[in-house]
Amino acid sequence: MKKIGLIGGMSWESTLLYYKLLNEKVKQLRGGSHSANCVIESVDFAEIAELQANDDWPALDSLMQERANSLVSSGAEMILVCANTMHLCVPAIEQCTTIPVIHIAEVTADEIKAFSLKKIALLGTKFTMEKAFFKDILQKRGIEVLVPDPSARNQVHDIIYNELIHGIMKEESKRIYISVIQDLISQGAEGVILGCTEIPLLIYPEDIDIPLFNTTKLHAEKAVEFALSAS
Ligand code: GLU
Repeated sequence: MKKIGLIGGMSWESTLLYYKLLNEKVKQLRGGSHSANCVIESVDFAEIAELQANDDWPALDSLMQERANSLVSSGAEMILVCANTMHLCVPAIEQCTTIPVIHIAEVTADEIKAFSLKKIALLGTKFTMEKAFFKDILQKRGIEVLVPDPSARNQVHDIIYNELIHGIMKEESKRIYISVIQDLISQGAEGVILGCTEIPLLIYPEDIDIPLFNTTKLHAEKAVEFALSAS
């Protein structure tokens, strides 16, 4: 089994989900007492959030490169960046390492294609909803992306940073997310990407009538498939 390297702590609430999902998937596929072969580099999220708020992506690139190099030194054979937003740093990580980076948007696009959906809603941080790095991958695969209007984007973003990354799940916030999703469904969305690794702590498949794409789960499961593959 290949060793999975995770850059986690973004936030640690969702890194816990990754760790659980990786181990559950290995157990499901290998059985018995098998568990994931992995190593986690966990950052201090306060530092990350401050650099994000200042739009200091060069500093974030360097920080992610350092963590990726540490994973390589620890024997990792692939890298998972355990946040959608921080995939903005994937090009920088790929410059400094030769081991594969499993891209969360590619994995999500594959799954949406498997469902043959053409129009998809994307929820995440403002970085993920507004910048091109995630949407481009979907659009290149022929998938149209809908994001909430600016004021709803602010609400979705603020709930992530003020509540979800602190492990706070409020009924009121769940209602807000569901109403934002309903609005996107009325605009033609056929599925919804939970494009922030903490959103699955708040929104579950039973909350919505159309398919939900849980990026945390899809990303972790793809890593296990790769870890157990012969290549
Ligand atoms: N985990 C989040 C994501 O998937 C948000 C935290 C961050 O900005 O890294 O985008």
